[in-house]
Amino acid sequence: SQKDRVVAEEEWLRKWETGSIWFHKERGHPLLQKYLDVLLNGRSGLRIFFPLCGKAVEMKWLADMGHSVVGVEVSEKALKEFFAEHSLPFCEEPVPEISGAKKLQTTSGNIALYCCSIYDLSSSIVGKFDGVWDRGALVAVNPCDRQRYVSLMITLMEKNSSYLLVTVSYDPNKHKGPPFYVPESEIKSLFGNHCEIKCLQKVNDFSDKHRQWGLDYFLEVLYILKFV
Ligand code: SAH
Repeated sequence: SQKDRVVAEEEWLRKWETGSIWFHKERGHPLLQKYLDVLLNGRSGLRIFFPLCGKAVEMKWLADMGHSVVGVEVSEKALKEFFAEHSLPFCEEPVPEISGAKKLQTTSGNIALYCCSIYDLSSSIVGKFDGVWDRGALVAVNPCDRQRYVSLMITLMEKNSSYLLVTVSYDPNKHKGPPFYVPESEIKSLFGNHCEIKCLQKVNDFSDKHRQWGLDYFLEVLYILKFV
């Protein structure tokens, strides 16, 4: 069952090395476009966090709107591709608190991407955030690490912050994941005590890739989590 499945860091690195990055959306995510106002809530100049960011193009969108973007990703190749594909000059520096980690950031500092495991981060290193875009992150975390991931994310949330969470829904007996199936009841038990949770939309995202995985339906489910 999915709860025992473990994807090692090396496996993710290998996906990036071999270009098996089916999760990457070259044109960005339509649900972020559609619900951007819900995330921003009329505010400008926010600090926005992208956990397990890959080379998500939405980081560039938000930076271009004047927000400050922070991401974390284990694959340095992914991060270098992000800067290269958007022609963004960047600098590299070590992160004193985390051995082996690097921070890659644009010259103006408006996009700072940590190359390390998310579990190495804490609010004393990255600060707290006004907004989170979690797509391909909670659902990519190994099921055994889900509670740890969510507990960490909660410590990174500022007061009055918003967290857009995209999960996926399919028959977990037919595909081993990732992405993993995280039911609404589990979202509620993971985050429930700390925020208000609302399901914003369910969209059909079924494609040939999902058919090849042996599935016959595949939905994306978007939640907004409001921290008080
Ligand atoms: N959010 C991105 C990428 C989703 S795929 C998008 O929407 O396109 C999940 C990503 O998490 C992969 O790029 C993988 O390399 C990275 N990853 C997996 N485990 C991680 C960890 N513990 N810390 C940081 N990044 C991790």
